[in-house]
Amino acid sequence: MKSIWNETTIIPRRNPLPGNRKAEVVVIGAGLAGILTAYYLSRQGKSVIVLEADRIGGGQTGYTTAKITSQHNLIYEKLEKTMGTTLAAQYAKANQWAVEEYKKLVRIHKIDCHLEEKDSYLYSLKVSEVLRREADAAVRLGIPATFEREVELPFHISGAVRFPGQAQFHPLEFIKDMSSGLTIYEKTRVIEVKDHQVITDKGTVTAEHIVFACHYPFVIMPGFYFMKMYQKKSYVMEFAPVEPLSGMYLGIDQRGYSFRSVGDHLLLGYGSHRTGKPKKENPYDVLKRTGKHLYSTAEEVRHWSAMDCMTLDSVPYIGHFSSGKPYWHVATGFKKWGMTSSMVAARIISAEILGRRTEFAEVFSPQRFRLRASAKELASHTVESVKGLSQGRIPGVVTCPHLGCRLTWNRADKRWECPCHGSSFEQNGKILSGPAQRNLPFID
Ligand SMILES: Cc1cc2nc3c(=O)[nH]c(=O)nc-3n(C[C@H](O)[C@H](O)[C@H](O)COP(=O)(O)OP(=O)(O)OC[C@H]3O[C@@H](n4cnc5c(N)ncnc54)[C@H](O)[C@@H]3O)c2cc1C
Repeated sequence: MKSIWNETTIIPRRNPLPGNRKAEVVVIGAGLAGILTAYYLSRQGKSVIVLEADRIGGGQTGYTTAKITSQHNLIYEKLEKTMGTTLAAQYAKANQWAVEEYKKLVRIHKIDCHLEEKDSYLYSLKVSEVLRREADAAVRLGIPATFEREVELPFHISGAVRFPGQAQFHPLEFIKDMSSGLTIYEKTRVIEVKDHQVITDKGTVTAEHIVFACHYPFVIMPGFYFMKMYQKKSYVMEFAPVEPLSGMYLGIDQRGYSFRSVGDHLLLGYGSHRTGKPKKENPYDVLKRTGKHLYSTAEEVRHWSAMDCMTLDSVPYIGHFSSGKPYWHVATGFKKWGMTSSMVAARIISAEILGRRTEFAEVFSPQRFRLRASAKELASHTVESVKGLSQGRIPGVVTCPHLGCRLTWNRADKRWECPCHGSSFEQNGKILSGPAQRNLPFID
């Protein structure tokens, strides 16, 4: 399955790790979070090695819709209520900073990644009050949001929240340039991490600091991320030709769609569900029908899907991996907003390693536990995990090598998926994404 990004970019290949090595920092994962973290640390004179199981940008970053925005669905009113104004304002400030930092990096390094400044919109066909309240909360937290009655989309809306001055880009063209001066080893899978040793299938790297930027941290203990994170998946279909949109859009209704243009191509997104629990309807059929209905002269170009990690309180886990290992760091739980979250992670983690504190680190601390903000998600995640684990004990079912949950078959994507923690595998059992790190026994 290819996306518009990996069909239109060639990132030069890197060699696998040639044997044992030493570095000040090892970054596990060459997605956006890993590359940005390695970039900032290298600029500060640190020796950094990035280890990538597959290819640079070959993970979820290659399948995103690449909207660079602090507008993360409905979030600001919720954060204000559940965490208070100070932490909610930290979240807003961090993500607004990240949007501007992308613009700065692209300008300074003259990166040809089609970065375009765009307004970002949340819209609804049914409700307006919740959007009005979201706009008010965003303004209180420092974002110049407005409530709108009309937008350019080809249907009538009840209302929308507009965040001005956001952006979109080609994520792999960006990563290609940002990674060019970094030491990266591809086709090198980390199998285990023991204190300062990162053990891979090609050799061991010893480092003072280790950064887990591998989408879903695969270490079970310490950290216990599997207990406080699951994955959600959604689907994208590309249509052309479609008159370019001047904004980027996300529908908040249950059957809401995401819209963003790439020239005269439209990326239409839909169908969010917990990974491993696909809906009955084929999401690509729905996307095709909707795309043709809205833009009758456009044709499907390609389609793909991606997944992201969801945290219990809707805020990523960025910072120290666990209190007992101050030299391990983690960037995960981006809940489908990994462009700005990766940038925020790079800033917080590089500052942590350099012995500095970032003004907005507290809200993202992985050591937090905010019961009020987490209770509902914690309960439903626990139920799903227990169900998946107990079904994994039934003789003859296909189970996940991560913790033994029963895998389910995604008919639309023809993949095995884990409803507990979201690992996915090709039909023949080849691992596609973690936290599992091994193939299914079919091809072993
Ligand atoms: C449909 C969809 C649309 C989205 N659209 C947007 C959007 O418009 N805007 C936005 O902000 N966000 C969006 N996101 C979210 C965003 O794409 C992700 O949050 C982001 O790409 C994650 O980046 P990452 O670097 O954390 O992970 P990845 O890009 O997955 O990188 C992790 C890397 O780690 C490697 N790895 C894993 N395990 C190991 C190991 N053991 N050893 C070595 N390497 C390893 C993987 O191979 C991978 O390359 C979207 C998500 C989805 C699902």
